Amino acid sequence: MRAWVQFCLIYIFSGHSHLTLPCSVVLWRCSLSCCMPPFILNGSQLYTYSVCNVGEHEQDNWLRTTFIQRRPSASRVFVELQFIVRDCNSFDGSSLTCKETFNLFSSESDADIGTSFRKGQFKKVATIAPDEITSRNELRINTETRVVESLSRKGFYLAFQDIGACMALLSVRVYYKTCPATVKSLAAFPETVAGGGVNQALREVAGACVENAVSEEPPRIYCTVDGEWVVPVGQCQCMPGYEAVNDTCRDCQPGFFKAFVSNDACELCPVNTKLLSSGALLCPCAEDFYRAPDDPTTGPCSGLPSAPRELVATTTQLAAGKLQLSWSPPEDTGGRSDISYSVECRRCEGTACQPCGEKVRLEPASTGLMDTRVAVSELEPHLNYTFTVEAHSGVSLFASQGLPRSNRPPSTSTLTTPPKVTSMRLDERSLTSLSLSWAVAPRRLMPQPTRYKLTYRKKDDNLDVTTYTVLILEKSSVQISDLSPGTAYLFRVQALSPEGSPGGSSIEDEFETLTEGKEDAVEIHVIIITDVSFLLFRRRNSHSRQGPEDTYFSSSEQLKPLKTYVDPHTYEDPNMAILKFASEIHPSHVTKQKVIGAGEFGEVYRGILKAPGRKEGAVAIKTLKPGYSEKQRQDFLSEASIMGQFSHQNIIRLEGVVTKFKHAMIVTEYMENGALDKYLKDRDGEMPSFQLVGMMYGIAAGMKYLSDMSYVHRDLAARNILVNNNLECKVSDFGLSRVLEDDPEGTYTTSGGKIPIRWTAPEAIAYRKFTSASDVWSFGIVMWEVMAFGERPYWDMSNCEVMKAINEAFRLPAPMDCPSAVYQLMLQCWLQDRSKRPRFPDIVSLLDKLLRSPESLKAIADFDPRVSIRLPSTSGSDGSPFRSVAEWLESIKMSQYSENFTCAGVVTMDQVLQMKNVDIKNIGVRLPGHLKRIAYSILGLKDQTSTLSVFAV
Ligand code: AMP
Repeated sequence: MRAWVQFCLIYIFSGHSHLTLPCSVVLWRCSLSCCMPPFILNGSQLYTYSVCNVGEHEQDNWLRTTFIQRRPSASRVFVELQFIVRDCNSFDGSSLTCKETFNLFSSESDADIGTSFRKGQFKKVATIAPDEITSRNELRINTETRVVESLSRKGFYLAFQDIGACMALLSVRVYYKTCPATVKSLAAFPETVAGGGVNQALREVAGACVENAVSEEPPRIYCTVDGEWVVPVGQCQCMPGYEAVNDTCRDCQPGFFKAFVSNDACELCPVNTKLLSSGALLCPCAEDFYRAPDDPTTGPCSGLPSAPRELVATTTQLAAGKLQLSWSPPEDTGGRSDISYSVECRRCEGTACQPCGEKVRLEPASTGLMDTRVAVSELEPHLNYTFTVEAHSGVSLFASQGLPRSNRPPSTSTLTTPPKVTSMRLDERSLTSLSLSWAVAPRRLMPQPTRYKLTYRKKDDNLDVTTYTVLILEKSSVQISDLSPGTAYLFRVQALSPEGSPGGSSIEDEFETLTEGKEDAVEIHVIIITDVSFLLFRRRNSHSRQGPEDTYFSSSEQLKPLKTYVDPHTYEDPNMAILKFASEIHPSHVTKQKVIGAGEFGEVYRGILKAPGRKEGAVAIKTLKPGYSEKQRQDFLSEASIMGQFSHQNIIRLEGVVTKFKHAMIVTEYMENGALDKYLKDRDGEMPSFQLVGMMYGIAAGMKYLSDMSYVHRDLAARNILVNNNLECKVSDFGLSRVLEDDPEGTYTTSGGKIPIRWTAPEAIAYRKFTSASDVWSFGIVMWEVMAFGERPYWDMSNCEVMKAINEAFRLPAPMDCPSAVYQLMLQCWLQDRSKRPRFPDIVSLLDKLLRSPESLKAIADFDPRVSIRLPSTSGSDGSPFRSVAEWLESIKMSQYSENFTCAGVVTMDQVLQMKNVDIKNIGVRLPGHLKRIAYSILGLKDQTSTLSVFAV
């Protein structure tokens, strides 16, 4: 592209007198010396500067331009001339002095020197010769372009020197070249003067990504001397939610999404997702569909599996107390292949049910079963057992955390053991028929079974071809006809469970049809078959705690914990409590692998438990340091006596204890992700609210279970919650002495004893009133810790300041991005009047509601960056302004971006203060949580005048 330059011409005659001619479109005037009339070319009148002193010697006529301002970057200009030169041969006799060329000169200057003219100032650019000369009859117009290079001063003059030609200058046009403004590969580049600086062929030009596009490397391109763009560098790509259309980034259309920065087109939302309006980054799962933590966030969502089908119990071995449960895979796997099963066993005495725990053995395991069967052994006689088989998949975590399941079928299938048939009677017989009836054991609170399975065969059948007849009957009597006279038959009858599975005890009797001529007499031989499934022999087991009642069966509604927690201190001999609530493990079955933490009594290890009859698995092993006193040993083991009483998905599970050997140990399930506070700190800003609230739900469910059992935890804090691979949260830390000695947060109070002040309700601090309501206060603090990604409650305020603030009705402010509903719940947990605080069942159902309608998490609580980002945010920890960008980043825990700031040249706090959101994004801060944290901190820094806000409710 050419950019034209305006100027005028000054006529200088023989280097002395001058005349400025008006600057206008018509630059052409007759020369003073040789006036050529305007001539007509293609119908237009043309005016020219002309000279024709061919007969005279030593001609030196000059024509000069006015001062031509130079655009700073234009170091080379082009001069395009149109001119006519007369053929010297067409003049008679003057050919000796006649010339056919003229000269182009230039002169640089920083200022307009007006009309003063000195030849010496000018440098010759070129001698201009015509390609075609004009004869007497024929007019020939020449066009020549010359370059004036290496211009560096503010402006320049051009001049034309005639040395005796007969010529006319028709036009002088001056221009420089530019590369036009352009958008290339989603980067916009401004109009740029062609070529580099003096003597440089290329000019590097920085561009900017178009709106909603970003690039890792700032986009660049080169502009050549010819005004062409070449070699673009740095690829701009559309941001998530946008796609490239005609040099712009356009929102993804409704029903489409784009998750990453790329130039790909938006993709159609995958199956089982919600179709959002335009600009979607991801398609969230439709109601009742989920993504497992390992599922790609861009992939389809899957549903929970439906219940396993056809759950049946069969007896496969003769030994007593064993049965096999088997089932078919769920009809609907929710679109997933990672289906596994867990089996829960509950045993009931009367109406009270409790988990079977260690008392019953499930092989190969009770959870994580890939196969559709499990062998059950060590069942005790006279007890009812209910087995619940649950299908799990990668998305079951959501179900366990109470995410909506709405109308889906439950994923559990329950099998209740059917009753035993106690006696069979022959009521009537004939030559060809037998009438039988039978009775079942009475069951309290449970309906009698309505179906029975009767199997019979001839007693003396040839064993190779035994024929069995099986009848399913709806009442407890039957008449069987078409039998052979005088023949003995063996009958076996079993009650069927409501689900149709046989089980219960079966009874086998032998009856014979009448023989012709014989009298009708009843002979009964009763054989109790001992391989029956649920009539179990009482083991000689001193731990057996069941009552003498006969067998009763539980219904699945009776699964609530009906127990109350028993304080191990109420046992005169604490060892009895251990014996009762924990199962003993032989130390040779435990292998310690690695220290993972330090408890008050000794190291905590990760290890493997490989005990006979149990599935080998990872465990956590708490050890007791050598040199302990008996009191310390009992305190140490008291944790196991407490933990062993609990059985809940969100309470850490006790696997067993080693007490009979020198080195006592407590073995619990292993939680791969360790303590919750650390887990969250490591993922600061990286988890969505929905997931955080899901974690809180798990903790609340565990706490509800504990409060239902009348257990008060007293030290509920994120450090005492453990997280497993499925991100399930489980309450831990139950030692009786834990609050007194174990917890590093414990502080002695005036009321005596050690209390973790920041987590504890005021009434518990003031007069040791520890209740489930004080646990609710602590739960509120845990909610805050979760939403603030493991931030320390009340930051670096002292315990004393915290207690004072609480008594003056101040409460923690909402963490950044905390849903308003969640913050409201926290504030409710922190009500001074403990009777007004919500109870754990209320908390569980409120969190459940929030998770069922993720919309409810959209409204965000007010957030004050000055109080919600580490105090004080306006200065370093000693109150002085931040001395460096690194110090500031460290104070807001964003040190990982130090290099990004340095590389972007942001090295002073003044530069930081100038940054806008887009600048933060451009230097490479992409995670929304981190972006906000940095942006809010800058906001806080700018507001230097505000003192720290207090957070009164
Ligand atoms: P505690 O004595 O219970 O506070 O445990 C000390 C540390 O050991 C905890 O902070 C955890 O990091 C780790 N730990 C304790 N129990 C487990 C477990 N079951 N699974 C994984 N880590 C555990």
